[in-house]
Amino acid sequence: MKEDCIFCKIAAGEISSQTIFENEEFRVILDISPAAKGHALIIPKEHYGNIYELPEEMAAKVMILAKKLTGHMTDVLKCDGFNIVQNNGEAAGQTVFHFHMHLIPRYKNDGNQDKLCWNHLELSQEEMKEICQQLRQ
Ligand code: 5GP
Ligand code: ZN
Repeated sequence: MKEDCIFCKIAAGEISSQTIFENEEFRVILDISPAAKGHALIIPKEHYGNIYELPEEMAAKVMILAKKLTGHMTDVLKCDGFNIVQNNGEAAGQTVFHFHMHLIPRYKNDGNQDKLCWNHLELSQEEMKEICQQLRQ
């Protein structure tokens, strides 16, 4: 547990939260400032700052949990879709530096249609090729 980390405290139950799921390794809570009804956060109980620090086994477990929860939440909330968002680093909009995954139910005409999006770059074929070469493993 990291000192002064709000999600460590929430995950440990030291700070109360609206918990929708809990097991040995995770607590899933409702976001205090939801983008939509049912917006939840998957929080590992162990402190990892971001995806770079998250062990692979935990990454796999997070995704499996997200898969289970989105199914369950869709049944209960009758939402029309889901965004899964996971921010890493200030530049990417991360504000709480304890790894978490956002599960955001989406509803037709929920007013967020123009959100959760980005500007589109116009890159030349050359630039695309170069990036592809740099990234290809
Ligand atoms: P980030 O921007 O780091 O990806 O997301 C942090 C999220 O945590 C935000 O959506 C914010 O509303 C939520 N959050 C921050 N503090 C608290 C808190 O004390 N309780 C709950 N339930 N959510 C929080
Ligand atoms: Zn923490």
